[in-house]
Amino acid sequence: MTIQSDISEVAEEKSSVYGPVHSWRVGSSLGVDMLLQTSTCSFNCIYCQLGDIQLKTAQRSIYVPTAQLEHDLRRSRWEEADIITFSGSGEPTLALNLAEAIHWVKEYTGKPVMVLTNATLLHDPAVIQDLQAADIVSCKLDAATEAGLKQMNRPVAGVTLQNIVSGIKNLKAHYKGKIALQCMFMPTNLREVEQMAKLINDIQPDEVQLNTPKRAYPLEWHLDSRGNHGDKPYPTRELRTVSPPQADEIEALLQEKTHVPILSIYKK
Ligand code: SF4
Repeated sequence: MTIQSDISEVAEEKSSVYGPVHSWRVGSSLGVDMLLQTSTCSFNCIYCQLGDIQLKTAQRSIYVPTAQLEHDLRRSRWEEADIITFSGSGEPTLALNLAEAIHWVKEYTGKPVMVLTNATLLHDPAVIQDLQAADIVSCKLDAATEAGLKQMNRPVAGVTLQNIVSGIKNLKAHYKGKIALQCMFMPTNLREVEQMAKLINDIQPDEVQLNTPKRAYPLEWHLDSRGNHGDKPYPTRELRTVSPPQADEIEALLQEKTHVPILSIYKK
């Protein structure tokens, strides 16, 4: 069997490209999944739309060959998307071929690229280098204390909030594109909003994306959960969210304390 036919057979079962899906942040977004085989992340967030992460790792590797991405994207409805988003089945910076993939996608589609990252690998100069080709990097920040990080994000051993914040500042120092902070709020981390404002002021992102988990938590791993599906054909558990008035209060407080532009999921 040739490599190409091997890729074709895999792609028929599982595609590294999905959507376009509607994103409240950026409109019509084509998803690129450089992890694909199973959910793979250095976090295991309590609200993750993928459910319990199957492969918990901070080890970079080639999970999806760039040739497979090329094959899948050529067959997708990429023309309909406003933006191409690297997200999918876990943490995109774990893909060692991330830079090669971003370069190829930009050249082939001519569309902007956004990377959604949990920011746990931004202390690595190679990762900062890989992100240079992206137009927007959206960094997750859900906690303002080490205890909050453990509670919300349940990171793999060795990941600390201090490293994450210094990693995002490292990106800011070496990257010319737009940096957003994606902050997920639940009743669990409401008490950290004031401290979060201090971190935002310290980092000075271009934008804060205020979110709350609107998607139910899958009780088992399904590739479908990476997209924006309504009724799920598998068991899920509803999550506790912040209400629209609570989100307004958070937004007002962050606005007053930081003056950074805020995008709220309740005002999409
Ligand atoms: S960082 Fe993203 S993919 Fe990883 S566990 Fe959290 S929500 Fe899921």
